[in-house]
Amino acid sequence: PPSAATADSKGRLLVIGATGFIGRFMAEASTESGRPTYVLVRPGSCFSPTKADAVKSLKEKGAIVVEGLMNDTDLMEKILKEHKIEIVISVVGGKAIMDQIALVEAIRAVGTVKRFLPSEFGHDIDRAGPVEPGLQMYIEKRKIRRMIEEYRVPYTYICCNSVASWPYYDNTHPSEVLPPLDQFQIYGDGSVKAGSDIGKFTVKVADDVRTLNTSVHFRPACNLYNMNELATLWEKKIGRTLPRVTISEGDLLDIAACNPPNDIPRSIVASFTHDIFIKGCQTNFMIDGPNDVEVGDLYPEETFRTLDECFNDFAVMMKKPMVFCSK
Ligand code: NDP
Repeated sequence: PPSAATADSKGRLLVIGATGFIGRFMAEASTESGRPTYVLVRPGSCFSPTKADAVKSLKEKGAIVVEGLMNDTDLMEKILKEHKIEIVISVVGGKAIMDQIALVEAIRAVGTVKRFLPSEFGHDIDRAGPVEPGLQMYIEKRKIRRMIEEYRVPYTYICCNSVASWPYYDNTHPSEVLPPLDQFQIYGDGSVKAGSDIGKFTVKVADDVRTLNTSVHFRPACNLYNMNELATLWEKKIGRTLPRVTISEGDLLDIAACNPPNDIPRSIVASFTHDIFIKGCQTNFMIDGPNDVEVGDLYPEETFRTLDECFNDFAVMMKKPMVFCSK
């Protein structure tokens, strides 16, 4: 690969969505890297005890809290200018993808942002194609990509694949679940391969000259597992075997097709599960495009936290009340 990025550039970084599941890792990694870190927090965030705790903890780590809504272009322009923001990482959730339109307008208007990382943090949305209703989110994320490219906003797209917990097909949010203790649900024949350090590596690529206007793919070989291998790994951690039941392609498509109706987010998660474990969307293409790079090729000296280590944490958590897997 080309020479390494300049390590001394510590431009001011703004995280939008820092109180969210993935956003927390971004804000923490940025403060840990010693970079001036700003977090945009929705007005009123401090009224929910969980959000107030998240904001307090980020402040204690050195983050500067700015209140506002991303979908207010004028305000975003003011914030970007006033705080001389050079890097923007948006980690808003699935429902707020289109709110980024106002943010992209603001980034274009100020013209001083050196890198924008839109809310992606999943599959390569131009390559993957889940059935509806999951497709809708990809259509929205694709619109944001096209707008960024049209406006010539300097970008990096993070395609980190699965970074969250056990891959249940019917959960409400991946932060809320631990691996099973009763039975495994194997999607199809369980042979399709589908890994976190998400904050650390995202903050690292955000000002790396080699990732300007590229998609960065996370496919560390140490974390490439199929369903059956995942199940076996978990069985080793809990010291017993569990029954395996098959969830067929038809089952997943049925649930995705809203059977029962309006069963959201279950139907959305089922459509993504189908794309991952039946169609193999995380691994069924080569990372060889002119604007594609694999994160391990960029930083061969860095090690990834393994699934084996994450499962050790899960095994400990199983003995305690419900808590997050801190990656
Ligand atoms: P969450 O829903 O957990 O958090 C969203 C964050 O965005 C919250 O902090 C929320 O604020 C904030 N937000 C939403 N709208 C606005 C707005 N208009 N202005 C300012 N802040 C706003 O999101 P996730 O972490 O689940 O998802 C982030 C991204 O990561 C998504 O693109 C998602 O698809 C992807 N993802 C990928 C996973 C994987 O395994 N690869 C797993 C999970 C998500 P507030 O706290 O006030 O609501």
